[in-house]
Amino acid sequence: MSREKKIAIYPGTFDPITNGHIDIIRRAVVIFDKVIIAVARNIQKSPLFSVEERMDLIRHVINDIHATEIDSFDGLLVDYALEKKAQAIIRGLRAVSDFEYELQMALVNRKLSEKLITVFMMPHENYSYLNSSIVKELALLDGDIESFVPEHVLQQLKKKLFKK
Ligand code: ADP
Repeated sequence: MSREKKIAIYPGTFDPITNGHIDIIRRAVVIFDKVIIAVARNIQKSPLFSVEERMDLIRHVINDIHATEIDSFDGLLVDYALEKKAQAIIRGLRAVSDFEYELQMALVNRKLSEKLITVFMMPHENYSYLNSSIVKELALLDGDIESFVPEHVLQQLKKKLFKK
């Protein structure tokens, strides 16, 4: 009998995708048969890039990583994950500051569905202080973000921010 495919959802805003996110995706595909990168549609924050733009950016920069799928979702993550027949939700843990919120989310999601397991992954220490907001702030101030995002993201950020 063939083994059930292990599917994980990696949800987030990805506004835009950074090298920290990519680091987590590379680790996740080592242990899962398929990793679905799911861009959240219904967030309170007002994102710089539209959902479609964020998905395009992701598609462009992870095209060498097999066993990935790019999607977007609305509503409850748990419902979406179950619909996708996923067994796990992946989250990146950067620092202690992430922990409290992530623990709360993981426990709430477990309450909503016992079937789903939240898996935390630590990025390379080079990315442990990185998030999309910092990247956008630096880009706006013309700071050097070359080591934080892939070249394509850098170009699209400049285009978006300075209409270059
Ligand atoms: P952010 O706006 O903080 O980048 P996202 O919603 O896009 O957040 O993040 C999606 C997931 O990726 C979250 O689990 C978050 O902790 C994780 N993540 C974000 N940046 C990094 C990073 N630099 N290293 C590891 N994980 C990260």
